[in-house]
Formats: sequence, structure tokens, C-alpha cells
Amino acid sequence: MTDAIKARLYVTDALSIGGTVALDDDQAHYLRHVLRLAPGDAVALFNGHDGEFRAVIAEAGKKACRLTVEALLRPQGPPADLWLCFAPIKQGRIEMIVEKATELGAGRLLPVITRRVQMQKVNAERLFAHAREAAEQCERLDVPAVAAAVTLETLLADWPADRRLFVCVERAEALSLLAAAQAVTGPCALLIGPEGGFAPEELARIAALPQVVPVSLGPRILRAETAAIAALAILQSVRQN
Ligand code: SAH
Repeated sequence: MTDAIKARLYVTDALSIGGTVALDDDQAHYLRHVLRLAPGDAVALFNGHDGEFRAVIAEAGKKACRLTVEALLRPQGPPADLWLCFAPIKQGRIEMIVEKATELGAGRLLPVITRRVQMQKVNAERLFAHAREAAEQCERLDVPAVAAAVTLETLLADWPADRRLFVCVERAEALSLLAAAQAVTGPCALLIGPEGGFAPEELARIAALPQVVPVSLGPRILRAETAAIAALAILQSVRQN
């Protein structure tokens, strides 16, 4: 039994000093059998709105794992406001987008079904689990929401008037994302196409939306997941949130 924080966990319960938190089965298993923690061991808990707290395992029985919340470690900051819209790509790679986007500060992940996507079905719950794990690891105080997949038409039709949409387009005479991002303040989002890129009629539709700024990520053709990671890294470097 030591004072060191042995793990970081996202929980859905409210957090306040003196409160009690019951872990779900998976988290209880992880603490007891993977990390081999025991009563008295300390962990950090966050839930996306109350801040990060130090909590101590009070009970780690066969069925239940309960923790007592002891102290505030970090107050909650403003929520991450950057949206990443991306066409679902094949298994293995889509998880990479979710994991890296979480590390790079995306606040909301929006799968978008386009003409050339190869994966029509998106399991938002499974993707959220990946985001949660990444948030626990990278010391974020929130987990990006994973929206239900929508078609590109719906995304564009419902697009908020005040949010800029940087659309990453390969082989186009577009401004670099860096230059575009430096010139824009306020809410923004990225849109990345699927392995096969956007269809010409989709590009025409996208270009018709006044909030859209087409952008380039350089002269090479990047895989969709590389494009997502590179674009987020650029945006993160010029924006605070
Ligand atoms: N198969 C397509 C490429 C698709 S790349 C082709 O060969 O033409 C997948 C997605 O990554 C694209 O839809 C785009 O959103 C993004 N992307 C890849 N390279 C890019 C670049 N150099 N600049 C901007 N976006 C890029």
C-alpha cells in the first residue's frame, strides 16, 4: 500500500471528495487481476465534467470494487471543441483514428458515410471504448463523444452555421491546413475522406457549403488515418483548445 497513483480510470459516476464510486465489471477486473491492486491503493478518476480526483480502493471483492474519493488532483478545463468528421475505414485502422484523435485533442468524432466507403457499419460504442482507453492513457480529463454515423448529405445539411469545416482534399490547389487554420478563429472541424477519396459530386456538394474551407496536407497522397493524424496535429499546434 503506497500513495502513488496506480491507474487512471474514466467513470460515469459523479465525483466529489468523500463520495464513493463503484466500478463496472471490466474496470474492477482490470484493477484487481491485471494491475493486481488491493484495498488502500490509489487511482485517479475522471468523468469528463467534475475534474480529476485521487481515489482509494475501499473494497475489492469478488463482485464489487468500490473506491472512496479523497482529493481533487486537477479541476476540469474547458471541453475540447475540435470535431473530427471521418469516413469509416477498415477495422484496425479506424481504431487508430479514434485513438490518435483522442490523444490529439479532438472533442467529438463523427463517422460519415460517403459514396466510396468500404465500411458501412460503425459500432459507435466500440469506438467510444477505444477513445476512453486513449483518454485514460493520455491524461485527458474528458473522452471525445462518438456520434452515430450519418451520411455526408445529412452532415452537410445539418452543419452548424458558426463552425468552420476544413475539408482535406488531395491533389487540389488548396491552401495548406496550417495557413487556413491560422486565418480562422472560432469553432472548427475537419473532414477526411475514405480510402477511395471523395467522389466528384461529393466534392461539388461540399464546396457549396459556405462554412467549408478546402485544405491540403501536402503533395503526397496520405492514407485516411495518416491524413486524420497529420491534420489534427497541425490544428492542435495552432489552437489552444
Ligand atoms: N484513393 C484516393 C486517396 C484518398 S486518401 C486517391 O488516390 O485519390 C484518403 C483521404 O485522406 C482523402 O479523402 C483526404 O481527405 C485525405 N488526404 C490524403 N492525402 C491528402 C493530402 N495530401 N491533402 C489533403 N487531404 C489528403
